[in-house]
Amino acid sequence: MAKKFHNFINGKWVGAESGETFENRNPAHWEEVIGIFPKSDRKDVEKATEAAVQHREEWANLPVPERGKILGKVGDIMVQRKEEIAKLMTREMGKILKETRGDTQEGIDTAYYAFGEARRLFGVTSPCELPNKTAYTITRPVGTAGIITPWNFPMAIPCWKIFPALLMGNTIVFKSASDTPATTVKLVEILTEGGVPRGVVNLVHGPGSTVGEAILEQPEIGVISFTGSAAVGRRVAEVAGKNLKRVSLELGGKNPQIVMPDANIENAIEGLLWGAFGTTGQRCTATSRLLLHKDIYNEFLDIFVKRTKELKIGDGLVESTDVGPVINEPQLKKILNYVDVGRQEGAKLFFGGKKITGGKYDKGFFMEPTIFTEVESGMRIEQEEIFGPVLSVIKISSFEEGIQIANDVDYGLSSSIYTSNIEWAMKAIDKLEAGLVYVNAPTIGAECHLPFGGYKNTGNGHREGGKWPYEVFGEIKTVYIDYSEKLQKAQIDTNITK
Ligand code: NAP
Repeated sequence: MAKKFHNFINGKWVGAESGETFENRNPAHWEEVIGIFPKSDRKDVEKATEAAVQHREEWANLPVPERGKILGKVGDIMVQRKEEIAKLMTREMGKILKETRGDTQEGIDTAYYAFGEARRLFGVTSPCELPNKTAYTITRPVGTAGIITPWNFPMAIPCWKIFPALLMGNTIVFKSASDTPATTVKLVEILTEGGVPRGVVNLVHGPGSTVGEAILEQPEIGVISFTGSAAVGRRVAEVAGKNLKRVSLELGGKNPQIVMPDANIENAIEGLLWGAFGTTGQRCTATSRLLLHKDIYNEFLDIFVKRTKELKIGDGLVESTDVGPVINEPQLKKILNYVDVGRQEGAKLFFGGKKITGGKYDKGFFMEPTIFTEVESGMRIEQEEIFGPVLSVIKISSFEEGIQIANDVDYGLSSSIYTSNIEWAMKAIDKLEAGLVYVNAPTIGAECHLPFGGYKNTGNGHREGGKWPYEVFGEIKTVYIDYSEKLQKAQIDTNITK
């Protein structure tokens, strides 16, 4: 009998009001049910919001370093439970253990960053225009934050959002992806054990179309932090915008790796294998386009295909596996459909392209790492986010052409160039329209203290990581104190130096 999980509302683990449930299964062994979760709806979201509002003041009144201590303790518990979390995450969403340990470590690092930030959160003190007057800023919480997250980083991304939101003094209504509710439960258990009081973090499981939408519509939720696809991001912006909520959106990518003829080829191939096929290509920063210079084209592809063939595909719980399954059947179908689209557009299917079948592979959703060559700029497989292990190779004749094609997409999250020419490297840093630029490193591998996010349809200008999300979750107050004991008029043209 599969384990039953619950929502977490006002400090209690409870089922959905409707009593409905949904199953969560292992994408490498579909017969394995990870758990049964409440299929919640608007009523559950309303209860969660009510609790979050009720406990706002008590949480906001706690000194920031005290909130920071709690988050430090949360980090400590995550360290102790790292292996347990990683194994659960691999079972739940498929990526290999090395990566789920990394995902958890990112959460730990983010907790310790918040612990440190608790003794900083500096405001501004400023000179005033008028005598005997002083000014400075303080930051107060927005109130209650709605957090909606995807399945591909089920620990790191919720931590990127929830820890800054909590440190800033907000209470939370949280919905994670329906493919990864179990990892989410672990995080909420740890937050509670770390000392986050009752009602401060409220978790509601269930579909985006009901639970997600209800979060967007709650009048008492003042800020939404969303990570997911551009399609859903647009919807989030629309509903939240109508209600004048603050919204932070982190969306998709179509990330290029440019390889110039003077690059260290071995290094560029290693980077590409990791960037394109790590996490089965299911990263917002995955390398989905290789812009390969014509002078090294054949040599590079020969070695790259050999190395791709050596990748071990299978259950992520087996330590020697390089590439795990795709998250679920609809996503596998979507990727296979893109393979058909690529063929119809005239690209050459150079390697892979099929679902892997037979024996253990029939139990899950496994896909061959796939390489298309003869891809031209503008083809759908070159423009649209596939979110699977599919790489489009485009031949380029010059650095300028590489930059132009790299930028000619609707997204702008990550980018990479391999070269030993400082001039090309520096010009690429300047010209690539992407929030992340890597030189001689793959498009993936962000660090928690640095800004993460992108241009164009990748988001709406916000950044996660480091100090940046703290701005999303805070209201700045500018304080003026006049000790002149008379009315001094600012913004009046009185030239006091006369
Ligand atoms: P998704 O389908 O957009 O879902 C993201 C979250 O939104 C899930 O929790 C989903 O719930 C919820 N949702 C769905 N419809 C909703 C609605 N109408 N209102 C409110 N919430 C709704 O994305 P995904 O498949 O989970 O994740 C993959 C996408 O995330 C890719 O596009 C990837 O590039 C992007 N991503 C971006 C970043 C970044 O930082 N830029 C990082 C990681 C992933 P359900 O699961 O219940 O549908």
